[in-house]
Order: sequence, then C-alpha cells, then structure tokens
Amino acid sequence: MKKYTIFGNPVSHSRSPVMQSAGFKYLQLDNTYDKTLLTDENIKDMFFNLGLSGANITVPHKEYAYISADLVVGDAKTIKAVNTYIKQDDKIVAHNTDGYGFVMAIDEFGPLSSVLLIGAGGTARAIAVALKSANIATTVANRTAKKLEFFDMLGVDTIISNDIDTSDKYDLVVNATSAGLCDSNYPMSQDKLRRVLTDSKYVFDCIYGTMTPFLSMAKQLGIKYKDGEDMLLYQGVKAMELWTNTKATKGLIDSMRSALRDKNDKQGEL
Ligand code: NDP
Repeated sequence: MKKYTIFGNPVSHSRSPVMQSAGFKYLQLDNTYDKTLLTDENIKDMFFNLGLSGANITVPHKEYAYISADLVVGDAKTIKAVNTYIKQDDKIVAHNTDGYGFVMAIDEFGPLSSVLLIGAGGTARAIAVALKSANIATTVANRTAKKLEFFDMLGVDTIISNDIDTSDKYDLVVNATSAGLCDSNYPMSQDKLRRVLTDSKYVFDCIYGTMTPFLSMAKQLGIKYKDGEDMLLYQGVKAMELWTNTKATKGLIDSMRSALRDKNDKQGEL
C-alpha cells in the first residue's frame, strides 16, 4: 500500500482525494489519498515524515513546492511551479500537470489559431507554456503589470486588461483569474469583455462547478463555453499516470470523472 496526499491551504474543499481514490480503486491498487493542510511546515519534511509515495500540491504552495523539489521535470522548469510530487529513490521529482489538463480540456474546440488568456498567476503560466508549445498565438491580459513580466520573458504578447483593443479577434478567450470564484466579478471590464467575446468562437473558465459571470456572459452571447472541470480531471489523470507508470484508459478516466461529479460524496465540494 502506498500513501498519497494533496497539500494545500485551504484544502478541505479539494475534490482530488475523491477523484484520485477512485482512480486507485479502478486500478485495483490498495493506495490511500488524503488531504494535508500545509501552513508553515516544510513540505519536504512533511512529505517524507508522512511516508508518501506521491502528492499533489494546490494553492498557495505550487511555487514553494517547485523550490523544495530535488528534481523538476518538463514544462514545470519553465513554469516555475509544480502540482505533482513523485518519490523516486528517496528524492522528490516534481511535475506540473495543469498545462496538460488545460490542453485536454480544450481539445473538443478543435484547432485554434489565437487565444486571449486573462490572468497572470500560476495557472495562467502553465496554460501559456502549453499554448506556446502548441504554437498557438497567445495574448496574456492582466489587470496589473507585475505578473506580466514572466510572459514577456516567455515571448508571448502581454497587455494590461483595460488597454485591450476590442477590435482584435481571438478564437478562444480563457479566464485564468480568480474573478467569479467566490464573488460576482468579471475578469476585466464588463463592457470590454462583452466586445471581445462577441467576436470569439469559444470561452473557457478555469473555475469549475459554478456558473461564473464570465461563463454567463458567453452563454448570453450564444458562444460555446466550458468550465474547468475537465482541466481538473486531466491534471489528476496525468498525475495518476506518473505515479503508477501507466497510460490512462477510458475506464480509468471515466471512473475518476464520475467520482469528481458525485455530489453525494461530501468530501469537499465542487
Ligand atoms: P493566482 O492567485 O496565482 O492568480 C490570480 C490571478 O487572478 C492574477 O492574475 C490576479 O491578478 C487575477 N485576479 C484575481 N482577482 C481578480 C479580479 N477580481 N479581476 C481581475 N483579475 C483578478 O491564482 P491561480 O493562477 O492559482 O488560479 C487562478 C484560477 O484558476 C482560480 O480561480 C483557480 O480556482 C483556477 N484553477 C483551476 C484549476 C483547474 O484544474 N480547473 C487548476 C488551478 C487553478 P493580479 O496579478 O492583478 O492580482
């Protein structure tokens, strides 16, 4: 039996234990997956003291987890934030699977030429790196300038949200801000957003399980939209693949999805 957890603060809301436990069960592995509130403890000490074989890391620890890992692999080196730990030979190897989750989630939109990515936090970083790898022209808009520096260095276009030229057209507009998560805010000026969305084909919100003002606007305008549930699912599927060294089957993915959606399970909330 191997032990896994998700580190976060807060972490009580997380659906990852329900989803990942369903994955282990489907694979007939006798593994456990818990939640661990991490406040100011050392994540590496906690990881080894708990006897873990792997972990997920969520807000606000992804950058701290990146710094604390022994080895960082793949896109996480560019993103400089990680959400997955794997124990290998008494070392912590770290990955970022959020970009993969995003790419899988938007797959149903088909080929895209241009994306407007609103937000410049850790999630937007993972998404921008994935979009750049896929050669999709990306513009990152944020309400303030500081966090745009990362994207300038990455080589994608950046703009302060209020300065957006609403005559520019994008295939897809993504909300990677926390606007709408626990409030009724739009990620940028409502008026400008409406004008940008009017000319877009698709809308994606990283927030899941709630109809945000951003998604409501897309619905009103008759634009195809999607929330972040599949992104959450597929970042977890990729972590599962890494921990178990297997390729996820449709059966595994379906079992994790239905656990994620099971509203009767009161462990965390969507
Ligand atoms: P961060 O705290 O790192 O970044 C937050 C970003 O949102 C910043 O760019 C910030 O702008 C912006 N922002 C916050 N409030 C507002 C507002 N009222 N108006 C406009 N911009 C705002 O967060 P994360 O990148 O970690 O997460 C972003 C979102 O993605 C969250 O809602 C989270 O729930 C979701 N998420 C979903 C996942 C999934 O699997 N579906 C995975 C991870 C995250 P500024 O720089 O100006 O402060």
